[in-house]
Amino acid sequence: MDIRTDFDKLARKLYGRPIHQCTSHELYHVLLQLTKDQLSERKETDGDRKVYYISAEFLIGKLLSNNLINLGIYDEVEEILKESGKSLTEIEDEEMEPSLGNGGLGRLAACFMDSIATLGLPGSGIGLNYHFGLFKQVFKDHLQTAEKDGWINDRCWLNKTDVSYDIKFGDVTVKSRMYDIDVAGYEKGLNKLHLFDVESLDESLVKSGIDFDKTDVLKNLTLFLYPDDSDEAGNLLRIYQQYFMVSNGARLIIDEMKEKGFDLYDLHKHVAIQINDTHPTMVIPELIRILTQEEEFTMDDAIAVVSKTCAYTNHTILAEALEKWPLAYLEKVVPVLVPIIKELANRIKKQHKDQSKVWIIDDEKRVHMAHIDIHYGYSVNGVAAIHTDILKNTELNVFYKLYPDKFNNKTNGVTFRRWLLKCNRPLAAFLDKTIGTDYRKDADKLKDLLSRKDDAAVLRELKEIKKTNKEELKRFVKAREGIDLDTDSIFDIQVKRLHEYKRQQMNALYIIHKYLEIKGGKIPKRPISCIFGAKAAPAYVIAKDIIHLILVLQEIINNDPDVNKYLKVVMVTNYNVTYAEKLIPACDISEQISLASKEASGTSNMKFMLNGAVTLGTDDGANVEIHDLVGDDNIYIFGADSDTVIKHYEKADYVSKDIYDESEVVKEAVDFIISPQCLKVGNKENLERLYKELLNKDWFMTLLDLEDYIKAKDRIFADYEDRDKWQRMMLVNIANAGFFSSDRTITEYNRDIWKL
Ligand SMILES: *Cc1c(COP(=O)(O)O)cnc(C)c1O
Repeated sequence: MDIRTDFDKLARKLYGRPIHQCTSHELYHVLLQLTKDQLSERKETDGDRKVYYISAEFLIGKLLSNNLINLGIYDEVEEILKESGKSLTEIEDEEMEPSLGNGGLGRLAACFMDSIATLGLPGSGIGLNYHFGLFKQVFKDHLQTAEKDGWINDRCWLNKTDVSYDIKFGDVTVKSRMYDIDVAGYEKGLNKLHLFDVESLDESLVKSGIDFDKTDVLKNLTLFLYPDDSDEAGNLLRIYQQYFMVSNGARLIIDEMKEKGFDLYDLHKHVAIQINDTHPTMVIPELIRILTQEEEFTMDDAIAVVSKTCAYTNHTILAEALEKWPLAYLEKVVPVLVPIIKELANRIKKQHKDQSKVWIIDDEKRVHMAHIDIHYGYSVNGVAAIHTDILKNTELNVFYKLYPDKFNNKTNGVTFRRWLLKCNRPLAAFLDKTIGTDYRKDADKLKDLLSRKDDAAVLRELKEIKKTNKEELKRFVKAREGIDLDTDSIFDIQVKRLHEYKRQQMNALYIIHKYLEIKGGKIPKRPISCIFGAKAAPAYVIAKDIIHLILVLQEIINNDPDVNKYLKVVMVTNYNVTYAEKLIPACDISEQISLASKEASGTSNMKFMLNGAVTLGTDDGANVEIHDLVGDDNIYIFGADSDTVIKHYEKADYVSKDIYDESEVVKEAVDFIISPQCLKVGNKENLERLYKELLNKDWFMTLLDLEDYIKAKDRIFADYEDRDKWQRMMLVNIANAGFFSSDRTITEYNRDIWKL
């Protein structure tokens, strides 16, 4: 096949013009079609045993460039465009990013789909086709506001299928429709991401912002990801969504089994279902329901087969994040499942009479979704070594004692196609030239770089690549935010969902500290750019207050002529995959500063490392494994360790006010939040609430680690001035990032859990 001929033909067919006369908008459409045609020539990977990865989120990002890379035609297409005076970057601007996810868990699912395809494994993703995603973040008066994040049009990657089911709820029956997105593996392999939607959905239900009538599920079921659940209607809607997802998924799985002529009693021999966090848990009772009510299984047989089919991934130890649905809500939304869930619960209660901690239904008649997964699944995995250890020894210890063999660790990973080949072309080209191209398929080969760590030319080139990427980010930020970045400054970046445990507030307190130092005449050796990107859940009040503080600091600092030459603050708007792909390659310092024991794994830490940033972090999540790989000399670790933190919680002896009273530095920074300067720019209500939260509660122990954090930051900034040393650290980080390829992670899932 000849891409050039096909490309030109398609442009003439769709727009009656040759490539060089088409607009970027038109060329995007042409390339979309061309790519879809190429994808349709690949055969879907199939086999007698298949994994279904069910997830409420798939944060897949834009697909054009990634598909071109995986199809092996990126360079050719770019060359053709260049001849017509266009660039792929320009064309990609025309693509909308699918709003199908929210953070790390959804991005993980997307990386996994890429690796499953690349490794040639039979597997499909199953999820929902949200029309407006989580929300689109807009800042107004230094506050986060939310708008709908629409992305679906006739120019997107969704392919309508003829698969449709009637999904029966307590009060209504909803007709579903399955849409597919093709997932191309690198060089070979093709898998499907199946997204279920509601035929009767009505986008016009959303008038302004993200408010809508939560009661009319026929019209609203797939409008938003994680609709506000601060009232009963919101909770019910989430249950409608979850059941809709798993009931469609269960039907699809059973249909595929039958189509292939397999006996349903052999379900576990042909199918592995990976449950990504607890949102898809109802697939367990739903499969049991279908097998007993429609396929004449006995309850014992159905439970036995399903329990050997389903595996569960835990993503959090935050108690408030573990889903517990009131039985009464389930009775309203999915009455058909309630007898099954009660049966499952009764069996456990009988077996473990005096161990109410492991019961599925508690005394308050709430259903613990994770408990269903653990009792009635065959595998329970954490997502980083320390996280799995904490599950085994603390959070899920009672379950670990019951089922030691079910527990296993699968340290997360990221796909190097998107997080290196696509987002950092200069670095990829440098690697090709320096160590050959084997690392593209065998990530461990990155280690070959280590032998060049004293090669001055290699180190200089790494520095130049970073500079190029900073220039690229500077252009992007200027266009989006209207803020000027200084590419000679240190790019210090914290991008991730906003949550108190991730401690963006600690980073903000450091910025206050630095600001006051500069005001006092202590000028840093080199300017520092503190860059944030984070969405806060609309109902998470303190998280929104933290965004407010950062935006207020941005206003004060960037407009203070004494300071803005040395310090700048940028909170980018609507952080998403597209933004991540620009920020990560340009980063010097990767902020991974969660309270030790609280971040299950993190994956942006891996993306940053791979792109030559140095980690400043706590010994938490996968930071621990990064630390092991690069050694003490190539990472900056600070703060209380997880054992200390866990003991503080057990003894309930952490009092933030004591630290505030004892430390002048801490007091100064915290007090600034409600200083006249801040109150002049910001809102009293938001700032005072945050101030009081830090003083009187500080559940995630910001003040405990603040002084140590300040010291570590000053150390890392000083070391940055030893440019040779810094570049060597960059190299060592890149060279050791191979372990964090999601190809490695998926190989382990397959070896230990799926056995495809
Ligand atoms: C990788 C990624 C995340 C996860 O970031 P963490 O820092 O690991 O929480 C979230 N959002 C986007 C857009 C990402 O690309």
